[in-house]
Amino acid sequence: MKKPKPLFWHIYPSYLIVILASLMVVSLSASVAMKGYYHEQMTLGLQAQANLLQESVLQHLSPLNEAALDALCKAAGRRVGTRITIVLPTGRVVADSQESPGQMETHSGRPEIHKALFGEPGQSMRYSSTLSRSMMYVAVPVQERGRTLAAIRTAIPLDEIDRKLGAIQKQIVGAGLVVALMAALVSYVVARRIARPIEEVRKGAERFATGDLTYAIPPPKSREMVLLVGALTQMASDLNERIHTVDRQRDELEAVLTSMQEGVIALNMDEHLIKVNQAAADMFKFKPGAAIGRTIQEVIRNPQLHRFVQEALTGEGDAEGEIHLYQEEERILGTHSSPLREPNGRRIGTLIVFHDITRLRRLETMRREFAANVSHEIKTPLTAIKGFVETLLGGALEKPEEARRFLMIIENHANRLAAIIEDLMKLAEIEQKGQNRSIGLRREALKPVISGAIEVLRGHADEKNIAIRLECDEALQAEINAHFLEQAVVNLVENAVKYSGQGSTIRVRAGQAGQEVEIRIEDEGIGIPGSHLPRLFERFYRVDKSRSRKEGGTGLGLAIVKHIIQAHGGKIDVDSTVGRGSTFLIRLPTASA
Ligand code: ADP
Repeated sequence: MKKPKPLFWHIYPSYLIVILASLMVVSLSASVAMKGYYHEQMTLGLQAQANLLQESVLQHLSPLNEAALDALCKAAGRRVGTRITIVLPTGRVVADSQESPGQMETHSGRPEIHKALFGEPGQSMRYSSTLSRSMMYVAVPVQERGRTLAAIRTAIPLDEIDRKLGAIQKQIVGAGLVVALMAALVSYVVARRIARPIEEVRKGAERFATGDLTYAIPPPKSREMVLLVGALTQMASDLNERIHTVDRQRDELEAVLTSMQEGVIALNMDEHLIKVNQAAADMFKFKPGAAIGRTIQEVIRNPQLHRFVQEALTGEGDAEGEIHLYQEEERILGTHSSPLREPNGRRIGTLIVFHDITRLRRLETMRREFAANVSHEIKTPLTAIKGFVETLLGGALEKPEEARRFLMIIENHANRLAAIIEDLMKLAEIEQKGQNRSIGLRREALKPVISGAIEVLRGHADEKNIAIRLECDEALQAEINAHFLEQAVVNLVENAVKYSGQGSTIRVRAGQAGQEVEIRIEDEGIGIPGSHLPRLFERFYRVDKSRSRKEGGTGLGLAIVKHIIQAHGGKIDVDSTVGRGSTFLIRLPTASA
């Protein structure tokens, strides 16, 4: 497309053309009128000269005195600078101011003379072959009592007139040029003045288009432009306000989405991502900025999710599902989708919300396993008790030796049942208190608590000739619940005694370590294989079931320890080498959180 010309070039040349054309027409018609007027004045002058001669010529006509006439003509011609000719009605020239009349041809055919001989003034402009130049002729009749006796003709060369006219025309052209120059200048200024405010408005509109909506267009002078600029500025300010509102709403939405723990993904009907929040990006490990506009298959590779997306996009209502992510460890996400609609109800995509239900699922599994374990643990001693009671009733009572042995076994199992139930109750108590954060911590010295725990085990240790050494500063203090902490230390020292050989040593050391208090229970016992360490603190988890049972263990001791330490806001760790011994490390914060 041809590039459009600036407005200035639309206005200026048209102005110029109109002005120059009117100037030309005016000066042309002025010069034509001037020429006409000049000719008329010349004709009248020539006629007046001829009229002036009428009296004198008449005197020499009757009787005809050619010599006198010729002399008169020559004298008058010299005086007025006009050629004067006198022609008789026959057409013969009898006198001429410039030529000798005898040599001149008959003049009756000349139109001005022809007319004068008929009694009326005549005039003509033509080329004179006698003088070889263009001439203006005027002829008047010389009459006596109504009879035409001759014609007096006056003539001047036209080039004289033309010369004079030319000078005037030059003046007209000069003045015209000056006027044209002035007009060009004025129309330039006017065209500029019309175009400039429009140019300013254009620049302003361009600034608005680039987003600078607060730009102030310089105030124009004409009313129409003031109104136009006013309307434009109003439009820009409205737009600015709307953009601010949209920005604010977007920021609010962004803030809501960002602060959500649930992952949020919005998809259009073609499965392209139109919105994601940081939580979703973290769950599926992608960069939110780069994902927008791409399809969900490109961004997240998960067949379960793709099936869910398809279901969500084809279904009319909400949909629920569950997907599994296999990252460093398995994660389970609950998914919920709702259709996305425009205000007019048109479906434009779907919104999917993801919430991490891994912990929930794990807890459920643990609860189920726990219930199964409890039943199993209780069932074993109960079955044994029932079996031996039946045997006793079936006749074994009659044999006191056997009966005594069976009753001792029954007592054993009953004790075990009691121990399991006691541990379960302890666990339930500490778990509940831990959850409610109501275990009641007090700043207390640790040494009495730890030595109290060791004293409980002293008898057992002595039976196996095991020495228990305690290293603890009297002044060492921590925020503790003495009853529960003693229980935890009892459980750990009890295990150390149970799983250590005759004559070994158990060291219990407590001390300050930075912001924490550490209690270390170290034995020289059988140790625990590394593969068991991660699950050691689970309920009923045992490395060697039969040994634990033989030692009277319930498999709940370490679970109780873990819950007690957690309720204190602390941590429990284990380090062990098979055949060398184990070290359990309790870390408690010195200041309560
Ligand atoms: P239990 O009542 O069976 O001792 P715990 O929960 O106290 O149950 O301990 C779980 C298991 O951890 C035990 O069965 C045992 O196999 C192992 N264990 C705990 N403490 C020690 C230790 N000091 N040395 C070796 N093994 C240990």
